[in-house]
Amino acid sequence: FTFDEFLTHWAAERPDRVAMREEDRVYTYASLDDHTARAASALLAAGLQKGDRIAWIGKNSDLYFTLFFGAARAGIVMAPIGWRLSPAEWAFIVNDTQAKMVFGGPGFDTLAHQLAGKLQHDPAILTAAEAYAMIDAAPRVPFEPSGANDAVLQLYTSGTTGNPKGAVLSNRNLFALRKHSNSLDLPYTKWEDDEAVLVAMPCAHIGGTGLGIMALAAGLPGIILAEFNPDGVFDAVEKHGVTRFFIVPAALQMLLMHPRCASVDYSRLKYILYGAAPIPLDLLRQCIKMFGAQFIQAYGMTETTGTISMLPPEDHDPEGNKRMRSAGKPLPGVEIRIVDGDGAPLPQGEVGEVVTRSSNNMLGYWNLPDATARTMTDDGWIRTGDAGYLDEDGYLYIHDRMKDMIITGGENVYPAEVESAIFGHPAVQEVAVFGVPDQKWGEAVKAVVVAKPGASVEESDIIAWARERIAPFKCPRSIDVIDALPRNASGKILRKDLRAPYWEGYERMVN
Ligand code: ATP
Ligand code: MG
Repeated sequence: FTFDEFLTHWAAERPDRVAMREEDRVYTYASLDDHTARAASALLAAGLQKGDRIAWIGKNSDLYFTLFFGAARAGIVMAPIGWRLSPAEWAFIVNDTQAKMVFGGPGFDTLAHQLAGKLQHDPAILTAAEAYAMIDAAPRVPFEPSGANDAVLQLYTSGTTGNPKGAVLSNRNLFALRKHSNSLDLPYTKWEDDEAVLVAMPCAHIGGTGLGIMALAAGLPGIILAEFNPDGVFDAVEKHGVTRFFIVPAALQMLLMHPRCASVDYSRLKYILYGAAPIPLDLLRQCIKMFGAQFIQAYGMTETTGTISMLPPEDHDPEGNKRMRSAGKPLPGVEIRIVDGDGAPLPQGEVGEVVTRSSNNMLGYWNLPDATARTMTDDGWIRTGDAGYLDEDGYLYIHDRMKDMIITGGENVYPAEVESAIFGHPAVQEVAVFGVPDQKWGEAVKAVVVAKPGASVEESDIIAWARERIAPFKCPRSIDVIDALPRNASGKILRKDLRAPYWEGYERMVN
């Protein structure tokens, strides 16, 4: 399938159904087809060709999806850039893309000024008003639609472990998730015709853009939130009949802490999908009790166009608890294996690197042949960089990133497990765990915690709490209290930033 096929198909099948809504701007499938075809026409008229890049710097917007879907129809590649990054980081990515046109979203009217002097080429930089006008003024002209294997989206990885890398994704990649999940005959993977989908995460990540694509693939309304905020989510659920959304664990916690949370009418909400980072077990338990919806965990990465495994609702039994730590089973059509440092498969139950193969796998990284060669094997596997194992029933357990594993006294400790144990402490709002250099143990486990408002945190108390829950060698040897954890726009804890000051002058051995 391709964007062109989906847009043409739904415009014919259900022209008057709502396709996309952001506040009071509503598109039917007929008008989305028309707007995206004219966006494609306008880009081609501006001199862009198949394979050229355009970039978007802004919040989520109907304009973004119109430009992206339109460009994709003609094989022009959209690269959305995280608006929370700094102008220097925007420029780094714009330079990397070599985009011929850069679009500023609503509220980003000074973009040209902010990028001035930072770019190595001379793209046209348009404001949102100019872009809307460009689309409105463009006559719809015939063009050759992109093919299934043509690149259409260039998504940058979150930059949790280093510089963000541009994962190049094709039509086939972007619609693979729909294909895989539709082939599972289960209610939570098949979408009913009366559903509506909320795009709540940033469009620069697969958890944002991907949800917009899923709405299009299913011919359902995609409700767009310019940026995540609890009120926006609650309103979308109560007023716009949103039946499913995807958010990261940090955002789930923000919903939970919001005063409105307990009194929202969740009767139409069916599923809450979460993932992108490990979730503390206690947070998940609290959420299951609070929301009248079923929970689905998704595991995946930018390079795999998002989800490759899912933990279904029936494994979210807060009492039974058997599988709540799992990232679920591979979707049909997705292969997942655990390998050692040389890429040789490990026996079931052993912890190693997670590798995966499916039509979700990206075409490659943009302009990074060495990184692509390190990440993608010749026979089509992607090395995720995550440590994990498969149990006897084929459930995947993600421990953490290989690079975050702490080796202390010869034992491997995965920060997420320690964080999950400490998170349940009544005085702890947030916690991050990482390794610091240690004369005796090689590395020692260290935790930094953010206290709940008004609560005070005692180092000895937290260590004692951890000792009741996890093996002694996994318990932190020291605890610092800080005001807030450094996170990136995907809500992921930047352990590399927390670790850095302790490792000055040391060499850290990582796989
Ligand atoms: P970079 O690759 O630039 O360092 P990143 O890996 O954070 O950044 P993403 O592609 O957004 O960029 O994130 C993918 C990673 O997120 C996975 O490799 C994994 O470490 C983590 N992740 C995703 N889903 C889950 C999940 N359900 N549970 C635990 N970790 C997850
Ligand atoms: Mg990554």
